[in-house]
Amino acid sequence: MGKVESATEAVRRSLRTGKIVAFTGAGISAESHVPTFRGADGLWRNSSPEKLCTAQAFTSNPRLVWEWYDWLRGLIHAAQPNPGHFALTEMQQRNPGRFTLVTQNMDGLHERAGSQDVVKLHGDIWLLRCTTCGREGRNEQVPMEHLPPLCRCGGTLRPAIVWFGEMLPQDQWERATDAARGADIFLAIGTSALVHPAAGLVRVAQQSGAQVVIINPDPTPADEFAKWILRGPAGEILPRLL
Ligand code: NAD
Repeated sequence: MGKVESATEAVRRSLRTGKIVAFTGAGISAESHVPTFRGADGLWRNSSPEKLCTAQAFTSNPRLVWEWYDWLRGLIHAAQPNPGHFALTEMQQRNPGRFTLVTQNMDGLHERAGSQDVVKLHGDIWLLRCTTCGREGRNEQVPMEHLPPLCRCGGTLRPAIVWFGEMLPQDQWERATDAARGADIFLAIGTSALVHPAAGLVRVAQQSGAQVVIINPDPTPADEFAKWILRGPAGEILPRLL
């Protein structure tokens, strides 16, 4: 058995008992053709999300920020969940009561693949929140009819996404940290592990005794916490772990 195969087999064995946490980043959606922020075809390279994904940018030019999100929503709308998303759905179904899925993604592809009760650290691109009255509602219109979209109260709607410099939703963060502390095996999938505080979950899990598995074609700063590193695309590796 080759080195990669034996690591895959060891992870498969470890997944048979104990509490499992799957922690995903933009990389799991790369094979669905949703661009990542930092991979080879990352969003950062073609546009400047670091300038757009802030409350300040939105206040100064909501239309410009919305034009970018409208483009991204169109792209995500056309995307389909890939075998990586489906493998996690199956992992959840096979391990009732001992599997938690925590995602940094806002694309909703885990839910579209059938995953339940997903912990969403960075919000949801299909949920809009009024910057005046705070009301939230789902909106799946692609493309948006009017930019920026307006609330019934007349306020400007924004995507209910956690932008740079904003707090994570506290209930989701507590669920994620509780899950990481209680994990026996922690799969960090398709994340550059650079965006904090979310990236800190890998360390929390490792320090609480979990076996950390990194699934990523490229090295990440979280590799130092890993018991196993499975190099490659999530859509190929995750189905092999079932
Ligand atoms: P990131 O863009 O910083 O890193 C992506 C990682 O995925 C890289 O380490 C890359 O090597 C890896 N990767 C690329 N292709 C892969 C594949 N096929 N299989 C496995 N891994 C692969 O993403 P991040 O760590 O999630 O952090 C950035 C922030 O980006 C998050 O807050 C997230 O909300 C946001 N984001 C989300 C989406 C989405 O919802 N799909 C897309 C872009 C950015």
